[in-house]
Amino acid sequence: MVETNRRIALVTGASRGIGRSIAIELAKRGAFVIVNYSSSPEAAQETLNAVREVGGDGEILKFSVQDSQAVENAFDGIKSRHGKLDILVNNAGISRDGLVLRMKDEEWLQTLAVNLNGAFFCSRAAARLMLKAKWGRIVNISSVVGEMGNAGQVPYVSSKAGLIGMTKALAKELASRNVTVNAITPGFIETDMTAALDEKLRDEHMKAIPLGRYGQAEEVAHLVNFLTSDQSAYITGQVIGINGGMYM
Ligand code: NAP
Repeated sequence: MVETNRRIALVTGASRGIGRSIAIELAKRGAFVIVNYSSSPEAAQETLNAVREVGGDGEILKFSVQDSQAVENAFDGIKSRHGKLDILVNNAGISRDGLVLRMKDEEWLQTLAVNLNGAFFCSRAAARLMLKAKWGRIVNISSVVGEMGNAGQVPYVSSKAGLIGMTKALAKELASRNVTVNAITPGFIETDMTAALDEKLRDEHMKAIPLGRYGQAEEVAHLVNFLTSDQSAYITGQVIGINGGMYM
C-alpha cells in the first residue's frame, strides 16, 4: 500500500514499544517517519535503524510532549524542513499507578501532563499544518481502561478517557478540511509498560481476555497504518478497540 504522495508522519514516543512498531509500519508504506522520544536516544536510533532496514526513511526529533514551547519549536522545525505534516500519532504515554488515597499530586499531574496535555499540544500544532493542506490523519493511542476503568490507575484512566473526548471534539472541528481524528484503545500489549507487571497480575489479566493472550505491538501498528491511510477517509471521531475481546 505505497501511496504516491510521500506522507510525512510524526510518531510521538517512538523510541520503544507500540510507537516503534507504528514507525516501522508507516515506513513500510513509504511514509517519511519522524521518530520522537524524550529520554532514550539509543532506543530512538534503533527505531530509525529499523525504519531504514525496511526500506524507509525518517529522522529523530527529541522533545517532551508535555512541554508546550518544545512542541511549538519542534513543529516549526518540521514545517521548515518538510513544509507539511500529514500524519500525527499521539502515542507517547506514561503510567503512574497506585491506590487513590496514596496518590501524590505530582503523580496525577505528571500523568495528565504527558498523556493529555502532550496530545493536545501536538494536535494543535499539527492541525495548523493539516488544515492548510486540507488533508490529515490524527490517531490518539488511548487505552481499554479509558473505556472500562481500572482500580489503581485513576490518573492513567482519567488521561486516557480524556483523550477519547479530545478525539471526538477535534474530529468535529477538523472534519470540514478532510482531517480525520480517531482513537485506538489497546488492551494489554507486550511492551516495557506491561513487562513491569507481576506474574500474578498477568495471570489474572489472561482470564479476562477471551483470545487468551496479550496483544503484540505490531497488531496495534497495523490498525494505525489503516487509520492513517487514504483507505480510511470516511472514518472519523471513532474509538476502535484492539483488546482480544476483553471489552466489548
Ligand atoms: P512504553 O514501552 O513505555 O513506551 C513509551 C514511549 O513514550 C517511549 O518511547 C517514551 O520515550 C515515550 N515518552 C514517554 N514520555 C514522553 C514524553 N514526555 N515525551 C515524548 N515521549 C515520551 O509504552 P507502550 O506500552 O509502547 O505504550 C505506548 C502508548 O500506548 C502509551 O500511550 C500507552 O499508554 C498506550 N497503551 C499501552 C498499552 C500496553 O499494554 N502496552 C495498552 C493500552 C495503551 P522515552 O523513553 O524516550 O521517554
